[in-house]
Amino acid sequence: MIARVLPLTQTRAIKGLFDYILPQELADQAEVGSLLRVPFAGRAVQAVVAELTPTSELPDERLASVAAVLPARLPADLVKLAQWIGDEYCSTAARALNVMLPPGATRGLTEKLVLTATLTEAGNAALADGVSVRLTAGQEAALAALADAGSVPASQLGTATLRRLEGRGLVNLEHAVSSRRPDRHAVSSISASAPRLTAEQKAALVPIMSAFANPANALMMGTEAVPAPERAASTFLLHGVTGSGKTEVYLQAAAAALEAGLGVIILVPEIGLTPQALARFEARFGDVVAVLHSGMSEGKRHDEWLRLARGEARVCVGPRSAIFAPMDEIGLIVVDEEHESSYKHEGDPRYDARTVAERRAADHGAVLLYGSATPRPESVHSSARLRLEQRVDGGALPSVEVLDMRGLHNPLHPQTWLALADCRRDGGKAIVLLNRRGWSNFLSCGSCGRVWMCPNCEVTLVLHRSGAHVACHHCGHREPVPGKCPDCGSVSVARHGAGTERLEHELVTALATPEFPVFRLDADASGLDARARILERFHAASAGVLVGTQMIAKGHDFADVGLGVVVDADQTMRFPDFRAEERTFALVTQLAGRTGRGGHGRVLVQTMEPQARPIQLAAQHDSDGFLNGELQRRRALAYPPFATLIRVVCSSQDDEGAHAATTALRQLIEPPGGRVLGPAPLFMLRGKHRSQLVVKTAERTAAIAAVRSAVDAIAGTKPHREVSISVDVDPQ
Ligand code: ADP
Ligand code: ZN
Ligand code: ZN
Repeated sequence: MIARVLPLTQTRAIKGLFDYILPQELADQAEVGSLLRVPFAGRAVQAVVAELTPTSELPDERLASVAAVLPARLPADLVKLAQWIGDEYCSTAARALNVMLPPGATRGLTEKLVLTATLTEAGNAALADGVSVRLTAGQEAALAALADAGSVPASQLGTATLRRLEGRGLVNLEHAVSSRRPDRHAVSSISASAPRLTAEQKAALVPIMSAFANPANALMMGTEAVPAPERAASTFLLHGVTGSGKTEVYLQAAAAALEAGLGVIILVPEIGLTPQALARFEARFGDVVAVLHSGMSEGKRHDEWLRLARGEARVCVGPRSAIFAPMDEIGLIVVDEEHESSYKHEGDPRYDARTVAERRAADHGAVLLYGSATPRPESVHSSARLRLEQRVDGGALPSVEVLDMRGLHNPLHPQTWLALADCRRDGGKAIVLLNRRGWSNFLSCGSCGRVWMCPNCEVTLVLHRSGAHVACHHCGHREPVPGKCPDCGSVSVARHGAGTERLEHELVTALATPEFPVFRLDADASGLDARARILERFHAASAGVLVGTQMIAKGHDFADVGLGVVVDADQTMRFPDFRAEERTFALVTQLAGRTGRGGHGRVLVQTMEPQARPIQLAAQHDSDGFLNGELQRRRALAYPPFATLIRVVCSSQDDEGAHAATTALRQLIEPPGGRVLGPAPLFMLRGKHRSQLVVKTAERTAAIAAVRSAVDAIAGTKPHREVSISVDVDPQ
């Protein structure tokens, strides 16, 4: 038998399948997806079986043999998916496999988690008759302990001792399955039973249910779907304001999939900060729910992975990587808050979990259900849209007021101060959103104008007063707060702009009382636990203000927040990016959606551009208007979803290297149905000079192939050896 394998090497140049002889004695252990150890370029590497075939095109004498079949195995459909991801994101299948393999598998963490010792019959006999078998005191004690306890983790008795006893056939050593499970997210206020659906929820579920029940009528949309023989793929977008009951629709759809014997994947943007969603699935479906996220220990993740692989769990809830849950017969994939940029993976491969979800749904003939209050134009364009326009509690959306900040110097508008004072008087709660950490954005010298910059990146250093340092938010470089200018010696160092730290300080000074506390949540609160605690305290308080970055508008459900403030709504518009308007619209709309449940909410949007389209339309809660305009604009300018963008960034220690590489690439890439923009210099990052190309094309697959072959042609070649090249298909 021949195993065609994908070696798990990081090297870009190593691509494709390699044939190995699978010796007879290993043949029945290996399947497609099995992890192997094989000799490769003079060393032992791990590899995943992509195919098993009777014969190779190469003569036997040129083939090496598989050294070992390791215990971990990936489902076969994921091996195919990894190959597709490798191509689609100009990466390699091996790198895609690395993000899919069972947690810890490549380091030997397998389902046999704990090495456990038991007594063999010979061991029992030896213990009974301590004379004819010579045992040391330690060995005898170990055998006695095993006789008492039945089975014991080896580490408790001394693995070396046990190994020796194993060698003599007296002890059996085996890795036994551990039963670690993540803590359940029991939340007392969440009921296990389904509520009576609203009319809108019912209407939204009709086409979803019929896609399960009657594949012939299912809508074929968007993807180059290869439908499974018995069911057709279909993609829906559940577009509903926050609080309109989208999660209940997911739950009902999931129940239907489970009923039909099919598995369910639920993707959420950031599970650590949104435990409610998970708790609702656990409350409804109990033990068949598995959770996969990076905040869990590797052991727990591994166990959850196996519960899914064995079919004990049939619903997987998790962030983007949960799209690789090992499940067969997936019936439903839900992508909640589908507009969130966290669905894009920033490591290699730069996959987008939403696109991978399309692919996986198509492979399984599953229903794909996106949900959002502010969907992407891309999904509006490619999915059947289902609307939920009313909040379940019947409350109106809050009124949104746009405040013109031109000519003002205080970070908060006078109206905002008044609204916050009212909030305190009424014992209410407010959220204040400013997407900028720290105290001031930058420092400059009052006499010579010197601006404090990061030595590694072309960005300004941000003052963090509590830590008494200035820091780079890109590379983490830190230095003490300067007392004087190193260039001219002046002691007048000016601080410009306001971040969350300063805003918190101003709010504390002006408003805070024991009854009206001020909390701050941003990435300075390190770790999910610290963040969850801050949210918990704000939740528990009867009144107060929560100041924070975007994090506070993501998925949190504070039923009692009456006032929402966006401090610098233009911040997201200042990026030179075709998605800038979409981000701004989403930010304001999401905050509005989380304000004033029950119908008495008020949202204030501070901006230097009060007439800007996304701000005006968000203030009017006009998401259709925004999406229509946005789709027109994108069509006119040939942006996604009407074209595909591919970004190539070259970086190098020296300035010329990066530029020379992008110039060489530009000459090689001839994208069909498109054009190449650049090379354009990017600001220096982490000490590296950078240069980029952007390919804009109507022929996605062919253009990706063109970029891939150009990158393969120059990567690692002599003139560009020191350059690292990163390709981003569908950059965010
Ligand atoms: P979304 O996901 O759109 O923000 P949720 O599904 O979280 O909305 O629903 C908002 C609130 O309304 C939740 O507390 C949920 O339990 C409740 N809810 C949802 N559907 C119903 C219903 N049909 N009847 C009563 N309450 C419901
Ligand atoms: Zn100076
Ligand atoms: Zn830096």
